[in-house]
Amino acid sequence: MEVFTDVCFRAMELITILNRCHRFRGFVYHQARFTSDHKSIEISMRPRKRSAAKCSRCHQPAPGYDQLPERRFEFIPFWGFFVFLVYAMRRVDCRRCGAVVVEEVPWGDGKHTLTRAYMLFLARWARRLSWKETAEAFRTSWEKVFDAVEHVVTWGLQHRMLGPIDAIGVDEIQYAKGHKYLTLVYQIDIGVTRLLWVGKERTIESFQGFFTAMCNDVISKIVFVCSDMWEPYLKLIRENCSEALHILDRFHIVANMNKALDNVRAEETTRMKREGRAPVLTKSRWLLLRRSENLGDEQQFRLRDLLRYNLKTVRAYLLKEAFQQLWEYSSPAWAGKFLDEWCRQTMRSRIEPMKKIARSLRKHRELILNYFRAQKLLSSGVVEGLNNKAKVTMRRSYGFRTYRVLELALYHSLGKLPEPESTHDFF
Ligand SMILES: [Zn+2]
Repeated sequence: MEVFTDVCFRAMELITILNRCHRFRGFVYHQARFTSDHKSIEISMRPRKRSAAKCSRCHQPAPGYDQLPERRFEFIPFWGFFVFLVYAMRRVDCRRCGAVVVEEVPWGDGKHTLTRAYMLFLARWARRLSWKETAEAFRTSWEKVFDAVEHVVTWGLQHRMLGPIDAIGVDEIQYAKGHKYLTLVYQIDIGVTRLLWVGKERTIESFQGFFTAMCNDVISKIVFVCSDMWEPYLKLIRENCSEALHILDRFHIVANMNKALDNVRAEETTRMKREGRAPVLTKSRWLLLRRSENLGDEQQFRLRDLLRYNLKTVRAYLLKEAFQQLWEYSSPAWAGKFLDEWCRQTMRSRIEPMKKIARSLRKHRELILNYFRAQKLLSSGVVEGLNNKAKVTMRRSYGFRTYRVLELALYHSLGKLPEPESTHDFF
């Protein structure tokens, strides 16, 4: 092992590789060596002779002023060794900016200790693994993975093309206990589906943020808006996209109906327990919420058994199942007739949570029928698919459950953002 210590160990080979994949005009790799603990490889860099330093503010060449002490920039690890680029940054006396400014270097910036190449590398892995796993795999910290993703997402948001957008879907997602919601806006054009915007909470102010963030030109050309029946959303959509057809989509209606059914079941279970009756509803939750065709034989049998009871839950379940037929219509007129009849029956059911649904469906009748008017022009089920992906992302990205982490993770995996340019595909 002695030979490794403090000698320029076959520096030529490593530098040849670096010159192939990570080469910059104006700078040269000088030499590569192991650190004394043999855990890291340090590659020293020098400015190329007669190449002037560039000011990091105005990006123009400027006369030199002095040189700062050497700094280490973390590069992509190599065969289990940490790799650092070591460079003493120059400062320039920039007349344009009227200040002494540190020079611009193409492999990194003043804020990060990681090189740009390493940040892109970590960020790409962080899309496949959880952030924690990424940190472990490359023996770095969760915070550095966070920095890497933040850098790549920030760049992506600044450089993405927004328009034109035909259709958007608005969704909300719970991210922590105690009514903590995010508002998500997706583009749901046929062929282009991506996350456009993440907002904290689900209030008028937060959703207004979306319309503020997008330029008017893009907003005014939106043709379809899919959302649920959350009143603040409806109001803002009416105000901002007055020309667009507003659609209450299937996913949100079914979700609301499942919530109502679940309330009926929970309430009835408690009541039966109090009255000392047989606990027939115990463990029935998934039997009732899942579509019956998705149940196994054993579950089908249990469901059939359960449906013999004269319970509110059973009647609510049957109403929910009957409602599924609505989605099979293709004509808005026939769908409308069906909807009216379903609401009429439900209003006589004496099951308050279901009546509440019926009242809401009646109130939003036209928006629901818009689903049938637009059906052929939207990729159906797309909001539901994106909602599921968002949930998976939220589960995987944590180390810390803060809003900023979630926001970055969601943009990173669902935003289809452009990436900073790279000298080479390291991953
Ligand atoms: Zn300058």
